[in-house]
Amino acid sequence: MRVLVVDDRLDNRYLLVSLFKGHGFQVDEARHGDEALAKARNLPPDLVVSDLLMPVMDGYSLLRQWRADDQLKAIPFVVYTATYTQEKDRKLALELGADAFVVKPTDPDDFMAQMRHILGQAQAGTLKPPALSPDTEPSYKLYSEVLVRKLESTSIELQARIEELTQSQEHIQRLNRLYASLSETNQAIVHITDPDELFHRVCRIAVECGGFSLAWIGLLDKARGDIRLKASFGEGASWFAGEQPFYTNDALRLPVQFAVSDEQIFLCNDLANCSPLDAYRELLDKANFRSAASLPLRLKGELIGAITLFAAQKGFFDDALEALVKEIAGDLSYALDNFAKEQERRESEERLKASEAANRLNARALEASANGVMICDIETNKYPIRHVNPAFERITGYSGVEVLGRDPGFLLGKDLDQPGMVELRSAIKDRRETGVVLRNYQKDGSLFWNELTMAPVVDDTGTVTHFVGVINDITERKRYEAQLERQYNEDALTGLASRNLLRDRVNQAIAFAAHQHKKIALLFIDLDGFKRINDSLGHLVGDAILCAIAERVRATTSDMDTCAHLSADEFAVLLTDLVRPQRALAVANDLLLAINQPLTAAGRQFDMTASIGISLYPEDCRDYDSLIGNADTAMHHAKEAGRNTVRFYAASMNAEALHRLNLDSRLRRAIDQNELLLHYQPLVRVSTGRVTDAEALIRWRGSDGKFISPVDFIPLAEETGLIIPIGEWVLRTACAQTQAWTQEIGVVLRIAVNLSARQFRAKDLVKTVVQVLADTGLPASQLKLEITESALMEDAAKAASILLELKRLGVTVSIDDFGTGYSSLAYLRQFPIDQLKIDRAFVQDVTRHADSAVIAKSVVELASQLRLETVGEGVETQEQQAFLQSVGCDLIQGYLFSRPLPAEEFAALLRAQMQPIASV
Ligand code: C2E
Ligand code: CA
Ligand code: CA
Repeated sequence: MRVLVVDDRLDNRYLLVSLFKGHGFQVDEARHGDEALAKARNLPPDLVVSDLLMPVMDGYSLLRQWRADDQLKAIPFVVYTATYTQEKDRKLALELGADAFVVKPTDPDDFMAQMRHILGQAQAGTLKPPALSPDTEPSYKLYSEVLVRKLESTSIELQARIEELTQSQEHIQRLNRLYASLSETNQAIVHITDPDELFHRVCRIAVECGGFSLAWIGLLDKARGDIRLKASFGEGASWFAGEQPFYTNDALRLPVQFAVSDEQIFLCNDLANCSPLDAYRELLDKANFRSAASLPLRLKGELIGAITLFAAQKGFFDDALEALVKEIAGDLSYALDNFAKEQERRESEERLKASEAANRLNARALEASANGVMICDIETNKYPIRHVNPAFERITGYSGVEVLGRDPGFLLGKDLDQPGMVELRSAIKDRRETGVVLRNYQKDGSLFWNELTMAPVVDDTGTVTHFVGVINDITERKRYEAQLERQYNEDALTGLASRNLLRDRVNQAIAFAAHQHKKIALLFIDLDGFKRINDSLGHLVGDAILCAIAERVRATTSDMDTCAHLSADEFAVLLTDLVRPQRALAVANDLLLAINQPLTAAGRQFDMTASIGISLYPEDCRDYDSLIGNADTAMHHAKEAGRNTVRFYAASMNAEALHRLNLDSRLRRAIDQNELLLHYQPLVRVSTGRVTDAEALIRWRGSDGKFISPVDFIPLAEETGLIIPIGEWVLRTACAQTQAWTQEIGVVLRIAVNLSARQFRAKDLVKTVVQVLADTGLPASQLKLEITESALMEDAAKAASILLELKRLGVTVSIDDFGTGYSSLAYLRQFPIDQLKIDRAFVQDVTRHADSAVIAKSVVELASQLRLETVGEGVETQEQQAFLQSVGCDLIQGYLFSRPLPAEEFAALLRAQMQPIASV
């Protein structure tokens, strides 16, 4: 069905168009009657909905011409109006042949029902024009009334436009005058070099060109705490010349005082109603002052006075004029700054000349010095170099010509944040001598350590005029110190921290942790069976293995952690800032995994494992020696427990950690011993009643045959990182099984696999998915990944980019447990997702709480508008199913239809579903 919406206002059209489109209509739009006729003749609609008041051709004319057009006249015409709502309007519209007259706004559902009714009648050929009451006046009379009303409103509009135009003409004149005075002021600034003369000229320009009655400039006299007249021009200027000193005349002074004491612009467009000036009303009236402005003048940002302007018109300053006078005041301040700078430059030139003589005397000594020397001038915040000696050129690599006039700060390169700089800056500010060590950079960018002495130079009057800097290049000394430090801190073979550095770091960490009430953990790592390799294959091979392991240890931990090589096959890792000991366990498990990756050295493959002991501060001990001793003891327990495993130092092991650890090591084995399996729960498509999707849910049958719930072990696996291999196993198994079903049973099923937050963030996720799809042959369109809302929110920007990559692969993305988090659907919309799973808790409430039902309904509706599929999860009763069906949920999952099933049982269910189709 095609609808033509005619309305001159875009927002009105938008509402109607969305409403019709939402109900599956095709919609054309026109802005007035003329356009509507043209469009309809080109492509006749099934229905037209038109506004009445429109430019070019109004709705009445459109309606008349519509009914007169043989091609269009049978098409139903609905008038939809907000302006013409009187009974007469309705009569006229119906008289002219409208099929309905609807007044805006109207309830969308009622409106659509009415439209469908009219369309239905039109199709059936039973559309009758609505009945008119017998007393209807003739249509020409009604129409002329409408025209009169239209004319009336147009003439009011025109009247308003004319008034507007007159006002703006006056305003333009005023603006023009001020532009002229701005330009004159700038001319004056360029040409005049004496401030007093400039002040006078500016006042004169304001009056002669700018249309002000009086302009005057006053400067602050700090000693008297008062404002002194500097220049004035215009009416009433004679007041200033009177025998009374000007500053006793409050009427003139007040605006300035506002400007000066508040450091803000004073602006008054109606002096007659400015109560602080009440006492001077007579004076102001006599002078015919109606508006006033006073603008602060500044020198180097500091307030020094104000320029004040009086005008004879009330309401003189509008926004544009205010901006212009501000500009004039700003230009004036700028000119004052320049005067001051020029003055300073002249003075410093003179000073330099005076000191040149002295310089010449010292020059010889300077040239001969082995230390670099530079002499710097003192300007505001800058210290331009005036002289350097040959040693400076040698040390820095810059020639004198290159550096003269530059601030010596350039020697710091980009390395600005140095501890010595704080002291240096403060010494320069206080004009005192100082010595600091800085990292400086030569012309070619290479670093040199500069032991710098800066001393002020005083002239005859005792003022500091220059600074002398003596540069001592101590790079060699620093290098030697660094080498010593490295030998002390770094393990020569692996580059990891030495035992010494570890001790320092542990002591620091303990001091810090004690203060912050944080925990720290020390992991003691001992390679299993290393001695045998070293003895049988020699030190070279042994060293290569140690270096490779060191690299893995480093890569597995973060920059914040300290990794140390203690001796031959012993390593240690210090973890600071721990909130819970579980993180230590997670890192230890990661280390075991990393160490256990196949390793090649000297052309041979090795399968290394390690045993790790963990001790904790403050639980186990309070100093370095006992911390490392206890970690060592725990490591031996790990060895006894069969190697390739982790143990906490026993004293700190609370029951909870033990339980987790136990669970953790059992879970580790579960993977190898095939104790993990998948169950599959069908999802039924509401529209067809068929199983089109399934969710893979992990099951763990322990060695004792008992099932352990994923709710108990998935969070642990997530914490320890085991979720990564387990998750990959789930993905692979589920994809392979689904592909097998396609081939064996012929059912193209979409399989949903749950991703935990850590899996979702793992950097290899997309790569793993691509690999698994390639290995199993499952098309990407048959894989759906379920991610919880909270996993998305952890880092929204990153999540969005991962989702985009998955989307590009063609994989479906579903938001699991929707409704439990805090994000709104509108927010989720920014992510490229395909499906929402309404959380079980919600589904269970829909038949119990009216609120939940309303929320669930609106979620499904909004989701469908965003083109997201919806799944109702945990459906256990007929009532829940009926409700979800009624609100338009796409898929249903829950015990009502089926529990999660072992693969064979699920296959049987699929086959059963195939039966009726096969027999057709
Ligand atoms: P989930 O993703 O929300 O999975 C749905 C859970 O609801 C499943 O519990 C399922 O058995 C249960 N369920 C389905 N229909 C009904 C029903 O009508 N009534 C009730 N009361 N429950 C129903 P299960 O299998 O115990 O899984 C629990 C959670 O463990 C899952 O919640 C999911 O977060 C996690 N999980 C399961 N398998 C995996 C997996 O392979 N990887 C990851 N990362 N997490 C998984
Ligand atoms: Ca799920
Ligand atoms: Ca769920």
